[in-house]
Amino acid sequence: MDKRIINFNPGPAALPEPVLQRARDEMLNWAGTGMSILESSHRAKPFEAMLNGAKARFTELLGIPDTHQILFVGGGATLQFAMVPLNLCPPDGTASYIVTGSWAKKAYQEAGKVGRKAVMAATTETKEKTFHRIPKPEEIKVEGDPAYIHLCSNNTIFGTEWQTYPDLGKHVMVGDLSSDFMSRPVDVSKFGLIYAGAQKNVGPAGVTVIIGRKELLALEQPNVPTYLKYKIHAENDSLYNTPPVFGIYIVALALDWMKEQGGLTAIQKRNQEKGQILYGAIDGSGGFYRGSADKDSRSLMNVTFRLPTEELEATFATDAKKAGMIGLKGHRSAGGIRASTYNAVTVEQVRTLVDFMKEFQRTKG
Ligand code: PMP
Repeated sequence: MDKRIINFNPGPAALPEPVLQRARDEMLNWAGTGMSILESSHRAKPFEAMLNGAKARFTELLGIPDTHQILFVGGGATLQFAMVPLNLCPPDGTASYIVTGSWAKKAYQEAGKVGRKAVMAATTETKEKTFHRIPKPEEIKVEGDPAYIHLCSNNTIFGTEWQTYPDLGKHVMVGDLSSDFMSRPVDVSKFGLIYAGAQKNVGPAGVTVIIGRKELLALEQPNVPTYLKYKIHAENDSLYNTPPVFGIYIVALALDWMKEQGGLTAIQKRNQEKGQILYGAIDGSGGFYRGSADKDSRSLMNVTFRLPTEELEATFATDAKKAGMIGLKGHRSAGGIRASTYNAVTVEQVRTLVDFMKEFQRTKG
């Protein structure tokens, strides 16, 4: 392979080329230190400047209000499935979950595993066609006074996404934004806490971004191990222990790139354009390609669809690979095809996929 592949992987996923080039250029001598970021101390001034720069960029791009603080931790979004209930829900409290996919369900189950009473406010899991839609506001049933209500913004496996977040009134909304974080503007003030693994839209695996309301980050529950306390990370400004240094650095570069792209409104417009092209091709295929998600719940990040047979789906993925496009095989639990079109995937690359889809249908349909 002598050129870059077209990468539709669901995560880790495509990164913007200028980000990779800058990381390469700075690899041997980062920020005039005479060494790489990988060799630098997280307690030294250049790192502190980079960390503060990343936080400032997040604040600027997302319009994060003063009420909220940004944290960087390891452990993936999966660790947040445990940290959220451990910190935000008292041992005798209740945590409520809107279950719209496998990751949301894992989050719900984890709350039970750490000893909290977890209840479902809604679920779209069914025997016939599971997790193919986002629930309507009237389907969300909140009983009692839960410590928070958790939702998953974009369901990576099934290809559904909240088009607008529900109004949960006085309740604290917690969001797993892992797979659509920084793909569109978000009103952070509506959330008590947001978390997102970086490896889709904002960087490499190994760092999770948390944006939490300060008084929630200050909550303390009994018997929480030190690293798992938001309070510890908040008080130490993400430097309680050695943070995921390289991951934070790549996130900082990706944020610079997002700023150069015109910020989140411009990025959202481009993601919408890619979605229109790809879903347009699916809907215009006369039924050869069938979108897996309900139209009003379609994700702009993970476009899921079926072909007439599973054999054709397998051939589609292998032929696409031969044509220089990878990552199109659907998740093993959902089957079908999934094209993940995160921020770094270009409009042109999506057009290349659509041309391939048309040719595939013409020759194999
Ligand atoms: N939430 C969502 C929406 C995801 O897509 C994923 C990973 N694909 C996770 C959580 C788990 O993330 P991690 O692998 O970083 O723990």
